[in-house]
Amino acid sequence: MSFFDRFKKKNKDKKAEADKKAEAKPKAASAKAAAEPAAKGDWQQPTEGANYMPAVDLGELLPGAPPNGKINLAIYWAAACGGCDVSLLDTNERILTIGDMANIVMWPIAVDGKEKDIEAMDDKSITVSLINGAVRNSENEHMVKLLRQKSLIVVAYGTCACFGGSPALANLIPGGHKELLDYVYDKTPTSVAFNNEYHKDAPVIPQTSYQAPEGELTLPVLFDRVKSLDQVIDVDYSIPGCPPLQESISYLLKAVVDFAYHGVALPPKGTEVGVTKTSICDECPRHKEFRRITEIKEPYQVDVDPDLCLMDQGILCLGPATVGGCNARCTRVGQPCRGCYGPSQEVQEHGASALTAIASLFPIDESDATMGEDKIIDIMSTIKDPLGYFYAFTMSKALIKTVVKEKGGQ
Ligand code: SF4
Ligand code: SF4
Ligand code: SF4
Repeated sequence: MSFFDRFKKKNKDKKAEADKKAEAKPKAASAKAAAEPAAKGDWQQPTEGANYMPAVDLGELLPGAPPNGKINLAIYWAAACGGCDVSLLDTNERILTIGDMANIVMWPIAVDGKEKDIEAMDDKSITVSLINGAVRNSENEHMVKLLRQKSLIVVAYGTCACFGGSPALANLIPGGHKELLDYVYDKTPTSVAFNNEYHKDAPVIPQTSYQAPEGELTLPVLFDRVKSLDQVIDVDYSIPGCPPLQESISYLLKAVVDFAYHGVALPPKGTEVGVTKTSICDECPRHKEFRRITEIKEPYQVDVDPDLCLMDQGILCLGPATVGGCNARCTRVGQPCRGCYGPSQEVQEHGASALTAIASLFPIDESDATMGEDKIIDIMSTIKDPLGYFYAFTMSKALIKTVVKEKGGQ
């Protein structure tokens, strides 16, 4: 059964289930009501069949420190863009709760906690470490191992930490970190111009060790493979998103607040925070006609129908293979899902599954072979940078580990 056949069946089942629920419940039962058990203090995991994770209501602002004193909180960025750190501000006035609840012992973007301060702490004395970013160099690796040793709970915060994110696209460079550095410092138009002007004899490429008159200067060693956090240390919870949305952060914050102030047990190890058990398609309001496509287009090339599935309009959308939770933010405003939440539970390989979903829309099957292989190749070749498109967020977890050059080729 093709991806979209499965999807059609699921839609039918979903509608039947919704009709049954509508009969059993008064109309006033809303998404807010669905979140009520969590608001009462029990950890509420995404429920089977939930189509969207609304933000949890945290109730009144909590004044002062928790009864047993402040917890220790560390926030660290590995290979990251900074967006995940900034997303913590989406807690709005709840940032004050974080300040009341926790001693922030490390947060490189905002407070002055140093590595030596963390080293001096007792093992497991940090209650929660939120780590964003992928692991791509020796410093990232050292810091995440150190934080693991010092923390009770480690959260992979954001898609780079969960799946490698955009830094992991570096895994597609056949020559590893040497080729990467060579390209960045010697082949890009700006570095060529710079080298022609200032370093005609040889490009200046960063070294990991340099003997200065004052002593040895070192830089972290760049790895050939960029890893997700759980490929380096044991991770307790993950919270995907690029960056995680306020809805997801509210679940995480509530769990920690309940733990610190009310002694409520933390969520079970392995919990993925803020995701549903279904895909983005289940949250997307666009109707699907499962049209066969013969051309792949960019959104700017289409006068986008506001109600019709983007795939039906020939626009690549990774919604079928991507886990729900964001309420289909992008497709609601006419942009395809790029897959930033990572694979849905049914999916083992994000990129390959998205590709399967798209391939199933081509007008070919055993009884209806209307399109030849050449035409399919023509269509597929209109996808610009297919590896980059299908693995933009999940390359560290992909079955494809790297790209190799053919002998003598590119
Ligand atoms: S997940 Fe997105 S927002 Fe967070 S660090 Fe990675 S690229 Fe930046
Ligand atoms: S637009 Fe994307 S997310 Fe929405 S139904 Fe179509 S494929 Fe699914
Ligand atoms: S629609 Fe897709 S790309 Fe957009 S926020 Fe949701 S998961 Fe991320």
